[in-house]
Amino acid sequence: MVGIVAAVGLVACVPEAPAPTPTAGATGGGDAYFPASGNGGYDVGHYDLTFDYDPATKALEASAVVKSTATQSLTSFSLDLRDLTVSAVTVNGTPATFAHTGGELVVTPANPLLAGNTFTTVVAYSGTMTQPVDGTGSLYGWVAFDDGAFVANEPEGASTWYPVNDVPTDKATYTFEITVPDGTTAVGNGDLVSQVSSGGHTTFRWVSHEPMASYLSMAASGNYTLSTDSTSKGLKIVNAVDDDLSPADQAATADVLAQQPDMIDFFEPMFGPYPFSSFGAVVDDDVDPQYALENQTRPIYSGAPDSATVAHELAHQWYGNKVTLAAWKDIWLNEGFATYAEWMWTEHTGGDTVADNYDFVTGIPAANAFWTVPVADPGPDDLFSAATYYRGGAFLESLRRTVGDTAFFAILRQWADTSPTEPVTTADLLALSETVSGQQLDTLFDDWLYQPTKPTPVP
Ligand SMILES: [Zn+2]
Repeated sequence: MVGIVAAVGLVACVPEAPAPTPTAGATGGGDAYFPASGNGGYDVGHYDLTFDYDPATKALEASAVVKSTATQSLTSFSLDLRDLTVSAVTVNGTPATFAHTGGELVVTPANPLLAGNTFTTVVAYSGTMTQPVDGTGSLYGWVAFDDGAFVANEPEGASTWYPVNDVPTDKATYTFEITVPDGTTAVGNGDLVSQVSSGGHTTFRWVSHEPMASYLSMAASGNYTLSTDSTSKGLKIVNAVDDDLSPADQAATADVLAQQPDMIDFFEPMFGPYPFSSFGAVVDDDVDPQYALENQTRPIYSGAPDSATVAHELAHQWYGNKVTLAAWKDIWLNEGFATYAEWMWTEHTGGDTVADNYDFVTGIPAANAFWTVPVADPGPDDLFSAATYYRGGAFLESLRRTVGDTAFFAILRQWADTSPTEPVTTADLLALSETVSGQQLDTLFDDWLYQPTKPTPVP
């Protein structure tokens, strides 16, 4: 517009600053451990994901509606998507050209996108689902089994099942519409808003109103039976338990899941109000993944969980899910807090005390390789090492013994009060801990979190 006015000479005025020239968005999100994950130039607000899945053939037909805001003017942008076949992409309703190689779906809209504007991308795609693994060989993402799918994305496995800006810092709301054969149950995060059967298939629609990191998203399926419960304050709990578990595992699972309301009641006075609109569990009979993940509002477990594990995944709803990592190197901020919470629950229920666990960890000999992992920057291969959990948890007990209970529980509470949209680092925890306690804590943090050697236990 400025150019046209100047050309016809109607107005003499000071020219406006030129609009930024649109450029291609970055194809990586900038995390030091997973630089190819995530993308640049936009921020996702909402994913509306539709799946038609047949566990027998593992065939997936899917469509993703991704609503975003451009953070720079873009000639093109990319989404992370692995091993699936894209058939069509539109941007704001107009067909876009795309290239899909090396896990990057690069989309070139018909017209450049201007910084600050919202835009809607629709991706139609399909494929045969498999059993993807992460960089350490561990199953993750959409893991296909004969009766459905176990879904656990951490750290960057969401791209195995939908086009995504796969970094923890780009939180979004989600809807999941999952169609499976009658008899199979599909489970997403948040609330089940409808379940409709037609022509031999059932469509489950789940809505996650609260912004969520992509690694916590889920569209699991299996021979699950849904059941509900609630806490003393009326928080809804929705559980999905696999009918294929043995009778003994069914009984053990029922006993443990019945403790979830008591766990929430135990943690809330320490951590603050439970941060989401619902909670619950997906308990899958397929044990191959051999782990549990704290999927937002509804953790998933491979096999019958024990009480300590459920307490751990519950604690992540505050520490990790609400309070979000700025970078994967700070993973101990998730796992150390969840491990410490697990220890507190175990002590509360008459098992090992926090002190017992501290003695166990600090009893590991200095020559053990356990102490070589600096947990505040463990490296991508040691992201989920034992040290991330136990050295992280033992550090928090060291902090408690150093600052005293009053300051320690104030730190726990104020850390959980961090805004869900302000990602955190270990330096932020140090700053908070020093402010609350009035003590210099650099050395304690450095010895316990950054050094590849055994720190001195705090008596
Ligand atoms: Zn954990």
